[in-house]
Amino acid sequence: MGIVIIRQDGKIDLWKEALKLHAPQIPVYGYLEDHPKEAIKMALVWKQPEGSLAGYPNLECIASSGAGVDFLFEDPQLPTHIPITRVVDEYLAKDMSEHVMALIFAQLKNLYHYKVDQGNGVWKPIPYKRIVDMTIGIMGLGALGTVLANDLVHFGFTVQGWSGSYKNIKGVKAFTGSQEQAEFLRSTQILVCLLPLTPATTGILNSALFEQLPKGAHIINVARGGHLVDGDLLQMLDNGHLSSACLDVYHQEPLPTDHPFWKHPKVHMTPHYASVSDTNSVVPQIVENYRRLMSGEVLLHRVSETKKY
Ligand code: NDP
Repeated sequence: MGIVIIRQDGKIDLWKEALKLHAPQIPVYGYLEDHPKEAIKMALVWKQPEGSLAGYPNLECIASSGAGVDFLFEDPQLPTHIPITRVVDEYLAKDMSEHVMALIFAQLKNLYHYKVDQGNGVWKPIPYKRIVDMTIGIMGLGALGTVLANDLVHFGFTVQGWSGSYKNIKGVKAFTGSQEQAEFLRSTQILVCLLPLTPATTGILNSALFEQLPKGAHIINVARGGHLVDGDLLQMLDNGHLSSACLDVYHQEPLPTDHPFWKHPKVHMTPHYASVSDTNSVVPQIVENYRRLMSGEVLLHRVSETKKY
């Protein structure tokens, strides 16, 4: 019995080493090496090649090595009867929160603006905003959104969140479902997307939603490129309704060099690195789930078959 690691980003050995360190008794294979397919119980996966999960007759768990699982459902040959798990990790959440807060503070103190002025030799102080002036709206109050919300509250921001079910987080005004979305958007000055990418959330960041934000709002998308309708964002930035967008994720990654985001003065890009699974932090929960699998116990962090997150 054992685990197969399936990923194409050159990190198979890194995960293998971490698994060996934490659980030397579990046989672990990279998917490209010779391995006994009938002995594989768990696949540890990130952006698998299409069809690569289909050839394991005794597979009992597909474990995403990140928080997101949307990439799994893109595979038409994904075995549909097998439980899927995902990562819920303290460092993943903290790193994401730090990234988003860095972006918010940069907006607050006009740092992107001054970088441009510097390039043009311009010395021109402009009024800054204070924490008390800002309402941050977080779409998605899950493992990541909740940590961000708590951190922002700690700094003194006005924080509100929108999610599928009602959340009771101290200091955070909660909104749920489509019926409360408009009210949530109306008072959000910086909108952070931390939703999972599902059929219900694909393309959610579109003109109709942007129009409900106050003029001058900022967008931060650190969830998935599929949430955003790129053309709608560009139109809203160009007509002045939105002030800026900080993007970490894209429809195609790396983003093609001719995409208008690269050179747009109001778009600030990072290369899908807001928060990355740390092998040493994440592997213990993978090992624990393998143990649970072998002893027939309930798996941790199981993805809902119906909700797809
Ligand atoms: P969770 O599953 O813990 O939380 C998801 C949240 O979104 C929940 O509050 C959920 O509501 C809400 N939600 C889901 N669907 C809807 C909907 N249709 N309408 C309203 N609310 C909805 O996810 P995580 O916080 O762990 O991660 C969020 C996403 O962040 C990941 O799926 C991934 O795509 C992205 N990510 C990006 C990274 C990066 O580096 N850029 C790194 C890690 C993750 P409810 O609570 O009611 O279920």
